Amino acid sequence: MFEITLSFDNGPEPGVTPGVLDTLAKAEIGATFFVLGRKIAEPAHTLLMERAADEGHWIGNHTYTHQTPLGLSADPKVAEAEVGRTQALIGSLSHPDRLFRPFGDGGLIGPHLMNRTVAEYLKHHGFTCVLWNEVPRDWEDPEGWAATALEACRQRTWSLLVLHDLPTGAMLHLERFINDVRVAGGRFRQDYPPDCMPILRGQEVLPLTNYVTE
Ligand SMILES: [Zn+2]
Repeated sequence: MFEITLSFDNGPEPGVTPGVLDTLAKAEIGATFFVLGRKIAEPAHTLLMERAADEGHWIGNHTYTHQTPLGLSADPKVAEAEVGRTQALIGSLSHPDRLFRPFGDGGLIGPHLMNRTVAEYLKHHGFTCVLWNEVPRDWEDPEGWAATALEACRQRTWSLLVLHDLPTGAMLHLERFINDVRVAGGRFRQDYPPDCMPILRGQEVLPLTNYVTE
């Protein structure tokens, strides 16, 4: 038996997110949408975030611009500009644990994810930092990611999978992926593996040295 938590980053997108929501509803799977502030600042995108929350999905913060990994930013106000501004737009749709996922730039985990100022900001404001352990690079391989992801997830007890509700064509294969996982004996859940959350509701629960530029 293996378990998978689904997360969808960098949306919402009018041409893609509705189809993802339809697929998840049909499959009765709850997921997390890590949204971009610059997208949900637009009304058409706000509506999609609201629909996702209405349907039981969790809404997380994935920075405002998604341009520079926060650990590489020289701007002393980057935490407020990227995290605070997005959280204000998410507003009451936020999960109570205030979920934040840093921009990995290609799905990479390392000290580029945040700087010390950002880490302190997350702790001070009670955020939960949600990383990941499986990135099948759906943006590079819109056809093949599902097979890659299934193979990887079968090797791990509990995978936190990063997908993207972006117009790459990759999400056309989401339903098939879900079916293949279930045929292979896998199950879906909405919460996260503890080793993917170095900050939990403002508390540093795992050493941050691997994720913070000093
Ligand atoms: Zn991203």
